[in-house]
Amino acid sequence: MSKDLEEYNKKRDFEMTQEPKGKLKESNDSLRFVVQHHIASSEHYDFRLELNGVLLSWAVPKGPSYNTKDRRLAMKVEDHPFDYRNFEGTIPKDQYGGGTVMIWDEGTWHPLGDPEEGLAKGELKFKLEGSRLIGNWVLIRWKMKSDQKQNRWLLIKERDDYAKDHEGISEFNTSIRTGRSMEEIREDK
Ligand code: MN
Repeated sequence: MSKDLEEYNKKRDFEMTQEPKGKLKESNDSLRFVVQHHIASSEHYDFRLELNGVLLSWAVPKGPSYNTKDRRLAMKVEDHPFDYRNFEGTIPKDQYGGGTVMIWDEGTWHPLGDPEEGLAKGELKFKLEGSRLIGNWVLIRWKMKSDQKQNRWLLIKERDDYAKDHEGISEFNTSIRTGRSMEEIREDK
């Protein structure tokens, strides 16, 4: 088992949850991204970028914003398996992340520059080609005085033709994959 997914697998009881068991994706063509709206103990959007066969993952409490002035807190969490991008449904209440997950947007992402270097430097620039998220964005690691809280990043829209003067995402409240509302997913309709 890849070390990358050890933490993911450790947190979950796959007898209890229908989320996929962590394994690496085998081939690399175009890089996929997914954003999953997750209503759990706290509501957030899980922003996931495919790299090296796994999904790099950040939890964004307020979700992405098209307004270049918004700096959205993005907590880096453990890598998720590539197949997680297909997960939509309910995680049992007593399990890690218990709640409802909606596939909110998906598509391809294109690193602007070397993504490994960007991650190491704490400034990852990229272009999204999704249905709801399009254009250039950047993830910047929050510089702290101490070594603590290294997992805090900011997700920011870069200036381009797609930028708006408001967040521009609140009208999207159904699954991009199945068209279902959060309630329909919760009730498994
Ligand atoms: Mn989540």
